[in-house]
Amino acid sequence: MAKPSSILVEDAIIVTMDPRRRVIEGGSILVEGDRIAEIRAPGGGRPEKAEQRISAKGMAVIPGLVDTHLHLAQSLLRGCADDLSLVEWLRQRVWPLQGCFTEEDGRVSAELSMLEMIRSGTTSFVGVDVVSRYGFDGIARSVVMAGMRAALAKTIMDSPGYGRKGSIMPVGLVEEKEACVREAKSMVRKWNGIRGGLVRTWLAPRSLGGCSRELYEEVADLASEQKTRVTMHLAEVKEDVRYAKQNFGVTPFEFIEKVGLAGPGSLFAHMVWLTERDVRRVADTKANVAHCPSSNLKLASGIPKVPELLEAGANVGLGCDGAPCNNSYDMIREMKIAAVIQKGRLLDPLTMPASTALEMATVRGAEAMGMGSEIGSIEVGKKADLVFIDLKKPHLTPFRKIVSNIVYSAMGSDVDTVMVDGRLLLRHGSALTLDEERIVGEAQQRQDELISRSGVKA
Ligand SMILES: [Zn+2]
Repeated sequence: MAKPSSILVEDAIIVTMDPRRRVIEGGSILVEGDRIAEIRAPGGGRPEKAEQRISAKGMAVIPGLVDTHLHLAQSLLRGCADDLSLVEWLRQRVWPLQGCFTEEDGRVSAELSMLEMIRSGTTSFVGVDVVSRYGFDGIARSVVMAGMRAALAKTIMDSPGYGRKGSIMPVGLVEEKEACVREAKSMVRKWNGIRGGLVRTWLAPRSLGGCSRELYEEVADLASEQKTRVTMHLAEVKEDVRYAKQNFGVTPFEFIEKVGLAGPGSLFAHMVWLTERDVRRVADTKANVAHCPSSNLKLASGIPKVPELLEAGANVGLGCDGAPCNNSYDMIREMKIAAVIQKGRLLDPLTMPASTALEMATVRGAEAMGMGSEIGSIEVGKKADLVFIDLKKPHLTPFRKIVSNIVYSAMGSDVDTVMVDGRLLLRHGSALTLDEERIVGEAQQRQDELISRSGVKA
């Protein structure tokens, strides 16, 4: 289906997330090509020339949501690893299963993850830990087919461990240093910035224990040489702090600073176990944080100091992490959890208001991807990444403050229409770019085969 050259979205409640955080009721948005050309309040006249008109009556139109940390290869593992601690969860379930992936498993898992994201309003994401056996090319091609905006982060490692002694990865996931650095470089050359920047290629050094100090330093150099960004898991569980203290004599974030990886081009997932000094240093270095509240709760990793990080001036986005630790890729539900867990942790109902959760899922997420000037809000000149939420539902009625209903009452399944770069990916709940029936059927079959091939008792 050819994309119309212009689309007029009419009668919307526009939650702009612009610097003034304006909400325009009954407004219209003119999209020309891949960008927002005009935003009009009611009575502001109507552009005549739009090729296609879409009514958003009874709907909130919000900026496309940005998931700053997720594993594309984990949706195929949904339901396979519940109620275990992180290290057991990795060693007994996630690693042995992922260590048996074929490239076809990698592709179908990516498609399933993207289908769920599109259906629940995510338009941009950082897909972490893409190892060679998942097939980088196949995943990148499926992103192009889906029409989503993605940063795909190639795993880089030179040791097979993670954290505490005995946490050794299965051979199927271990990559030789030279091979993974070579592949990372070639993936950057091949995919970084294609389709008007829809696909970007990042570097993902494995967590503490998966890389030597020299390799972290090499990644920092490689990132500046290739002008790409870096993401990794950091300070997720208490053991990470113990490991860093024991092996390097400093905290995980202090170590990352020493190897030259803390800066505005870096995005660190979890960051649960930070000292007060770490919190200040994250802000000072302008490093970005991907907060994954469901994952931190389900794996009992702890609750990160998000209000403290924000107060210090750090940028924090939100992430769904993976199907075995969340178990969904629904950013709307993630916003609610991010808002409520801090109130419980600090015994303060005023901390983390709904508006802050929405900022983390939009403007702050965009910033964490290095795309703050392009996405994250509905403003003239920005990319046309729009999500329509159908408000004509009992659980979304009545409303006074639309942001409250979106964060506290809505679910991903309330998303009606999704647009990325001015192209419709979802209309009235139907996926337009991905074949839902084929992907869902294939995913079930592939999970069954994966479990029997791996010998994992899931
Ligand atoms: Zn993760």
